[in-house]
Amino acid sequence: MKLKILLFTILVTFLTVFQAFAQRTIIHAGTLIDGTSENALSEVSIIIEGNTITAIEDGYVNGNRDDRVIDLRSKTVMPGLIDLHVHLESETNPQKYLEEFTFNEADFAMRSTAFAKRTLMAGFTTVRELGGSGVNISLRNAINQGFVDGPRVITVGKSIATTGGHADPTNGWKNTLMGAPGPEDGVINGIAQAREGVRQRYKEGSDHIKITATGGVLSVAKSGDAPQFFEDELDAIVRTAKEYGMHVAAHAHGAEGMKRAVEAGVLTIEHGTHMTEEVMDLMIENGTYYVPTISAGKWVAEKAKVEGYYPALVVPKALEIGPKIQNTFERAYKHGVKIAFGTDAGVFPHGLNGREFGYMTEVGMPAMEAIKSATTVAATVLGMQDQIGTIKVGKMADIIATDKNPLEDISTMESVSFVMKDGKIYKQ
Ligand SMILES: [Zn+2]
Repeated sequence: MKLKILLFTILVTFLTVFQAFAQRTIIHAGTLIDGTSENALSEVSIIIEGNTITAIEDGYVNGNRDDRVIDLRSKTVMPGLIDLHVHLESETNPQKYLEEFTFNEADFAMRSTAFAKRTLMAGFTTVRELGGSGVNISLRNAINQGFVDGPRVITVGKSIATTGGHADPTNGWKNTLMGAPGPEDGVINGIAQAREGVRQRYKEGSDHIKITATGGVLSVAKSGDAPQFFEDELDAIVRTAKEYGMHVAAHAHGAEGMKRAVEAGVLTIEHGTHMTEEVMDLMIENGTYYVPTISAGKWVAEKAKVEGYYPALVVPKALEIGPKIQNTFERAYKHGVKIAFGTDAGVFPHGLNGREFGYMTEVGMPAMEAIKSATTVAATVLGMQDQIGTIKVGKMADIIATDKNPLEDISTMESVSFVMKDGKIYKQ
């Protein structure tokens, strides 16, 4: 008994001494946008221990001799940004369609590490990866294990499509190569395969599910907006995903496919180009979020004018759909649809994600609201609102800063000058 008391006393003493010497980080924030307050705050100290924000104090606190003080008094400090729509395995270039035949999985994987780092350095500390070959699952793991610098990745692994649908990986291939991809490759037909497709993603380690509810711009297929799933298939996907605590993100350009997806219970509509008022009302009723990806629309519309940049089948779709997304965003926002930030980075170069803020504010969304869409709102979509998206006591220390105040000059979101993820500084 005496021995036990002695050991306990030694342990307590050790912990107390350790606590006193554990280095804290104190950020002096000149201006603070915390993710929830209506207005920016000024002259605030954020105190961080390990990877957690442990206190927020008015004024510039000096702390102990052992504390590390970071001077961001001339900057605007915000929660780490969240992009809900990226593709970290690839990046736009005129040879991209050839990569499917010339790249090994390792080539995609190696290159994705550079895209991930660029994304983090642009101030995006968390992303939702919306589909590639599936090696993004290994990328997520390598980042979590500290082998690769990148944002926290929440991934769907591979998209799920129907045969010939937007995410069928063999679209445009010659017949002998095309084969008949199935649920393992992300292609499903009918209820049983819909369930199998979701369960296969779960087995591979995906966090959530992505479907291509309608045609899309960059696939080598004719229609950009035809619905590509029946109601029973959508219902099977959403219900199966729910069993595993996964949500469903639905790529959609056409109204009919969007409507079916919203009614089936998907959490987010991506792109949403031809969204009608009927669809907007349905989204409001169902609590569905709209992830606009204006940046991708602008990029493809511009590149479609460059001879040979995209395959011939893609060009008219890019010219028709691309320029419309900003207007859809404006209509949806004014109608009251919940907006969550997402860009489709990869369709345009990684690291330019911050341009989206300019496109959003250009057509009427206040800067503060645009920032919240990429912090508080996006964190809620991920179900991570208790961990990330705000600068509050108890939250993870995902903190960024810009040289100018984005409420006065939104373009400063394109050149983030300080990045901390999980308590570790990556850019200063
Ligand atoms: Zn996408």
